[in-house]
Amino acid sequence: MDELGHMDEKLWKTTVFQHQVDEWRKDFYQWYKEEIKKKQKKGMGGVGELMFPKQKQRKKRMKHPDSILHKKENRTCFLCMKLHGDCRKLPYLEAHHVFGGANRKKSEEYGLKVYLCLEHHREGLEAVHRNHDMMRLVQQEGQQAFHLTYPEIDFRKEFGKNYLGEGKHE
Ligand SMILES: [Zn+2]
Ligand SMILES: [Zn+2]
Repeated sequence: MDELGHMDEKLWKTTVFQHQVDEWRKDFYQWYKEEIKKKQKKGMGGVGELMFPKQKQRKKRMKHPDSILHKKENRTCFLCMKLHGDCRKLPYLEAHHVFGGANRKKSEEYGLKVYLCLEHHREGLEAVHRNHDMMRLVQQEGQQAFHLTYPEIDFRKEFGKNYLGEGKHE
């Protein structure tokens, strides 16, 4: 009986020890989960991400390049120039994404933007957002610039449409 009692004590000690390990492990996992959450919040990704630091590359690709159609620094309106040869510097211009809707993000990433005066952007008879022909003109200019700037990329695949062929009824 003595021996059994002794063994029980041993067993009890082991159980307590095991219990402590379990507690510690639970704490550790809790801590670990929270650490990962913190890292994800900071945009650092999970553990796998830490092992492969792709983050810098990805950030570079998400850059917002300058317009491939029109120089912002010139402070001209793209359509004042194009339609009327008016290259005056304007105090107020608005950025217009050449391909909107679902392609707006792509327009941003490829630099498909033009700068327009208020009249040519939203308010006048020649405003891209009011005049379909003007919208189409800017889109055609955009597609041409795209072909010149990214000859290796298939525009139609990227934007789902060919704006240059339209009207010819091919
Ligand atoms: Zn204008
Ligand atoms: Zn716009």
